Amino acid sequence: MSDIERNLSDIREHIARTNAEQTVRLMAVTKNRTREEALLAIALGVDCIGENRVQESRDKWTEKPSVPLHLIGHLQTNKVKYAIDHFDAIDSIDSEKIADQLEMRLSQTQGLASAMIQINGGREDSKSGFAPDLDVVRRFLERGKSWPHLEFIGIMALFPRAIDNSATEKQRIRKLMKETGELWRMCKLEGYPWAPLTVLSMGMSEDYEWAIEAGSTLIRLGTRIFGPRA
Ligand SMILES: *Cc1c(COP(=O)(O)O)cnc(C)c1O
Repeated sequence: MSDIERNLSDIREHIARTNAEQTVRLMAVTKNRTREEALLAIALGVDCIGENRVQESRDKWTEKPSVPLHLIGHLQTNKVKYAIDHFDAIDSIDSEKIADQLEMRLSQTQGLASAMIQINGGREDSKSGFAPDLDVVRRFLERGKSWPHLEFIGIMALFPRAIDNSATEKQRIRKLMKETGELWRMCKLEGYPWAPLTVLSMGMSEDYEWAIEAGSTLIRLGTRIFGPRA
């Protein structure tokens, strides 16, 4: 059995043990991984692929993978055209400006795109995204009316890494995840026609079990599947 195969089987066991009420899907984050590694993970049944950089992804996926390809890193305005052509979903909508740019381009080509709102779950200066605040996210969603070519399928949330293994740190991160889980449920209930918000993408290699407890429906794993990044 390859390392990737063993890792995926461990992850699936962990997911089963969390007693999640929701179905949890698995994204393999393949930044800095070869196409071969990524194809192996796909063959072993991951649900979708996440890439951080538009250019790296275009170089790697000259032929599209057999599962949906998501952009999970910051999108620069000069890459909007490429991103629309290349990705099945853009999960990293972190400003109104980028949504405006995507809408402008999509309206010219009459295309539609799936998108997610990026939430900065710990309000860290080092990360982009909207604050985990109901009024802030509502205001953004209201503006969704003016982006008829963008469908908001979910929320992608980022969280601080725990600085140590202490119970306090664990509690702090779990609390942030619970808050974002609540925020997602509220926004989904409000029922914006252009924002079904069926997906809550949260949880990475170090914290995915807490994320599932807090309601995550899509976990994004790199290291845990492929080993440490070079
Ligand atoms: C790199 C990355 C991940 C995966 O991180 P790991 O700790 O390797 O699992 C998930 N989400 C985003 C947005 C990332 O940039």
